[in-house]
Amino acid sequence: MKNFGHNCGVFGVSGSPSAAALTFTGLFALQHRGQESSGIVSSNGQQFFEHKGMGLVPNVFTPTAIASLAGNIAIGHNRYSTTGNSELRNAQPLTVECWRGPLAIGHNGNLTNTVQLRENLVQRGANFQTTTDSEIILHLLTMSHGTLVQAIVDMMNVVEGAYSLVIMTRDSLIAVRDPLGFHPLSLGRLNGAWIIASETCAFDAIGATFERDVKPGEIVVIKDGAIESFSFNRVVPRRTFCSFEAIYFMRPDSLLFGKTVADIRIAFGAALAREHQIDADVVVPVPDSGIYAAWGYANTTRIPFVLAYVRNHYLGRSFLQPVSESRVVAVDMKLNLIRSFVEGKRVIVLDDSIVRGNTAKSRCRLIKEAGATEVHMLVSCPPHRHPCFYGIDFPSADDLIANHHSNGELARLLGLDSLGYLSEDSMARAIGDCSLCLACFNGKYPTPVPL
Ligand code: SF4
Repeated sequence: MKNFGHNCGVFGVSGSPSAAALTFTGLFALQHRGQESSGIVSSNGQQFFEHKGMGLVPNVFTPTAIASLAGNIAIGHNRYSTTGNSELRNAQPLTVECWRGPLAIGHNGNLTNTVQLRENLVQRGANFQTTTDSEIILHLLTMSHGTLVQAIVDMMNVVEGAYSLVIMTRDSLIAVRDPLGFHPLSLGRLNGAWIIASETCAFDAIGATFERDVKPGEIVVIKDGAIESFSFNRVVPRRTFCSFEAIYFMRPDSLLFGKTVADIRIAFGAALAREHQIDADVVVPVPDSGIYAAWGYANTTRIPFVLAYVRNHYLGRSFLQPVSESRVVAVDMKLNLIRSFVEGKRVIVLDDSIVRGNTAKSRCRLIKEAGATEVHMLVSCPPHRHPCFYGIDFPSADDLIANHHSNGELARLLGLDSLGYLSEDSMARAIGDCSLCLACFNGKYPTPVPL
């Protein structure tokens, strides 16, 4: 498993006396979406209570901290920074005391016109407390006149890019999804309470049921047990859900377009089997996100599926190592190999993506050194050639290895007998929604981006 940055995971509860405890559990289920910092803000109808910290959810929240978060409404956030530094002042939810009363937001995504927006807000007198793009949204909401829903619509009229938001006032919980619907956001129910989560796996974690997705461009306001939906009516060219959510980010047990993400990844594997027929003895997944695609490939081809890699789940994230050499060492420490599973065999390794190439090289070297007679690599998406501006922390185009080598050259460089990628069409068909963002593969960005 590689570690791409992503901002972030959001969660919200309205109408439960255990709002903060449920939010803690929901954030724990969304830990894969952000591991730098975590926070919860709750409301008892009069005032906000807040606890934030750097690190993983269980390390940030003690039982005492959760007990201090009073009230029936709460929002929570797990952060990975793509805009703004990794420091406590940038941890979310962000809060402000304004003429509307207290306001808190948690943001998943990345805005693409932050420079102009920030300059404009500073000229209008805004004082920024953080270096995040999310604070821009907060300032826009506080500076706008009229109802909060009108302020949200005004904000949506000026910001560009990706945002799945949870917003809290003293007495309301609000969910907002950008008009293109880049990142997921869903609504659930638990004993009369309303739940909002980045992924449905968080509903399962607290025993809630999935109600529906928040629609692209929708504003959902929950107050006193009632729910109201408003739609942002600016004409947008098309919906563009981030395909990399399905490939890598989302948990396999989360629902996407009516299927589990695991089912989508199994379909990636079946499509790879149709596109790349290889004579081999075993299919080896790179854990975790390669597992289901490898399973789909093995089921379709009848080549045995072998869990030869053993992942150490307790290591820090490899990409946090600032120097390339250190990153290679960290990757080696992350995956061990059961040598006897591949020794003397023709092996297909199945991974979710190749970005810089150093993780793929290290993994294939392990298999070769264990005595495999052939090593082929299949990747459950097309080659990555372009950076992402919508919340996924890919390197620059220059650091993406597919931009420097042909397939054959790359196979040789990685020490492989062959290398194959899933085509864009097959990938989109397997996800099953015709309106996807594929910009990191084909460079067709659905919004203006700061290139
Ligand atoms: S550019 Fe790639 S990673 Fe970014 S939103 Fe689009 S599909 Fe997702």
